[in-house]
Amino acid sequence: MSATATYAFQGKTILITGGAGEIGKATAHRFAANGAAIVLLDINETKLTEVAQGLKDCGSPVHTFRCDVTSADEVKQVFAAAVERTGQLHYVFNNAGYQGAFAKTDEYPEQDFQKVIDINVVGVFHVLKAAAQTLRDGGGAIVNMASHAGVDGPPNMLAYAASKFAVIGMTQTAAKDLAPYSIRVNALSPSLIGPGFMWTRQTELQAGVGSQYFDSDPKVVEQQMINSVPLRRLGKLEEVANGVAFLMSDEASYITGFNLDVTGGQ
Ligand code: NAD
Repeated sequence: MSATATYAFQGKTILITGGAGEIGKATAHRFAANGAAIVLLDINETKLTEVAQGLKDCGSPVHTFRCDVTSADEVKQVFAAAVERTGQLHYVFNNAGYQGAFAKTDEYPEQDFQKVIDINVVGVFHVLKAAAQTLRDGGGAIVNMASHAGVDGPPNMLAYAASKFAVIGMTQTAAKDLAPYSIRVNALSPSLIGPGFMWTRQTELQAGVGSQYFDSDPKVVEQQMINSVPLRRLGKLEEVANGVAFLMSDEASYITGFNLDVTGGQ
């Protein structure tokens, strides 16, 4: 797989949740560059419009829908509307997510724990179910956005780790359940991706916890984190999008129930 690999996505449609966010946007550009029509869902309508504007020159159709993935009804309605608008969906990138609070386990706030689970677990379930019902007639591929935090729980991220372990579990079960419909289901687990919103947020919030694992200066935390990556750099948004493209592509036609780590070797 290389940064310039092209896949045959012409005539195909990808639906991306969290489509207004950084990874959603990078993935939309990656698929549009390979000829796919794009459907973007997000709770943030202003940013959705901006991302759609940025895709205007790509030549691919782009559709946007406001959708809160924590509402099963909204997800169902938006999937139906997306099929009506595009004719058929082929790929679903189940990507919307929230990092949650950074706090030690003995201080972790209940409300935020619930919010992380609502978005990252219940929301992912709603989208997975709607994707399964939508794709089961024609087959297709689903990529669930997990995280390296779902493979090895990081300090001070109790809710996030719980939610991403759940995403990997749902991926393994859904891959088995949906194989008879020729729907492949895989997970993708990035780690330190940046620069960007989540990178800045996590270095600042980890610095503020006062744990033994990180310095209290976010700039030092940045270096501590990068030093934990064998490739000694952050992953780029495009490198995450490349992973999604590979997992959706026909090159991955015998890969299902797999978790692709995009971590620089962590
Ligand atoms: P981001 O904050 O830029 O994007 C997340 C998007 O999800 C936002 O646009 C947000 O509005 C949307 N969203 C949140 N709650 C929603 C809801 N209830 N309904 C619909 N949309 C909602 O962050 P990102 O870095 O693009 O993250 C995308 C995914 O990648 C997340 O699942 C995140 O956990 C995962 N991830 C990110 C990194 C990273 O370093 N950036 C690493 C590992 C995993």
